[in-house]
Amino acid sequence: MSPTPDYAFYPTTHALGDGIGAEDYRRALEHSNAAARPLSLYVHLPFCQRACFHCARRPVTTSDTRLPEAYLARLDREMVLTRRHLDAGREVRSLQWGGGTPTFLSLSQMSDLIDRLDARFRLAGDRDREYLIEIDPREADVLTLRHLEALGFNRLSLEVLDLDPAVQQAINRLQGPGLTEQLIDEADRLGFHSVNLNLIIGLPRQTREGFTATLEQVIAMAPARLSLFHYQHHPERFPPQRHIRAEELPTAEETLEMLDRALELLAAGGYVHVGRDRFVRGDDRLARQAGRARGRHDLLGLGVTAVSRLEDLHVRNPLTLDAYESALDQGRLPTAVGHRLSLDDRLRRAAIETLMSELSLDLAALGDDFGLDAERHLATPLSRLAGAEGAGLVERRGMRLNVTPTGRLRVRQLATAFDAYLPAPWPWQASPTS
Ligand code: SF4
Repeated sequence: MSPTPDYAFYPTTHALGDGIGAEDYRRALEHSNAAARPLSLYVHLPFCQRACFHCARRPVTTSDTRLPEAYLARLDREMVLTRRHLDAGREVRSLQWGGGTPTFLSLSQMSDLIDRLDARFRLAGDRDREYLIEIDPREADVLTLRHLEALGFNRLSLEVLDLDPAVQQAINRLQGPGLTEQLIDEADRLGFHSVNLNLIIGLPRQTREGFTATLEQVIAMAPARLSLFHYQHHPERFPPQRHIRAEELPTAEETLEMLDRALELLAAGGYVHVGRDRFVRGDDRLARQAGRARGRHDLLGLGVTAVSRLEDLHVRNPLTLDAYESALDQGRLPTAVGHRLSLDDRLRRAAIETLMSELSLDLAALGDDFGLDAERHLATPLSRLAGAEGAGLVERRGMRLNVTPTGRLRVRQLATAFDAYLPAPWPWQASPTS
């Protein structure tokens, strides 16, 4: 069975194929200038000191801190090749460094990368821009945060996962809560706009009691945002997961119990579910709006495995460092695979994004946006959702679908009803009478 996608974008990587290459990407970049949508950059920094067993990100595991030098040079080449096709006036309002472990870079390598990005793109400098970096609390300290703030970063995403030592041992990732607390305090003092903590549910040796204790500690740290992801065990695709003993994974029933408990604790702690896997402290409507607006950006991905997403074209760079670097050494954009979006793709994308961020979907409004009868066009996904309605996860009222409180944390699974590429079986069948 395939992992349930997080639907950061749709169609997901399942749809990517060989028929699209660098030339298509180049043309799409030039075409995107006319639409002048906001521009976002994602930079992938793949290096990690050691492998976590639950990892599904294909990191380059090394202790050689010189390795990023050659990679940064290739990233710079990719920036130059990409920039050639963009209007000089297009401003980058959103920048994200992800990985891997972005802070594997030394402080001077981080400065070098920001300088190169600034030289090649028009990075926004105002307070409202969003510069986000993913942080492994084991690989960053107060000095790192000060440096990042000086470089212009104003948002942090901290990988906490689970604070139970038994779980941490099972995933080869020991990190005490003090590391995270210290970073949150310092980020607050330095004036970072927001700190997000990522937790994962469904990890080996996770129990209701242990995960409750993690949630209580995390809520006491009072981060502005929390994300609650689901672990997906696919050792056939992600070799580090072969270290995880399947019998140590919580059962589906235990995972659901932990989810329900998480919802209770987060609500009691003042966190509001704003769609997808995200919670914000208080009723932060801005966070929800930001999530919606992000989907309308042109996203340029730089680095190995990075995905770029323009209005009607998605492309991805090679999955291996060798293939990525070799393309750039030959002077070409490293596009490896891609997919051109059809009208059907764009309709389903809008349905998935709306359902996941709004937790409801107005079929009449969706049809108006696309000039078609959405109910008729999406008859198959809607009939699948009728099964989930029987399980109490969604309810249909006329032309509107609403995700119920029980369905909220299953919204990703519900969204798979609209996914035309996912081979996963649909878990909720409609009863014969429904
Ligand atoms: S989970 Fe993060 S830190 Fe761990 S190996 Fe994967 S990318 Fe690296």
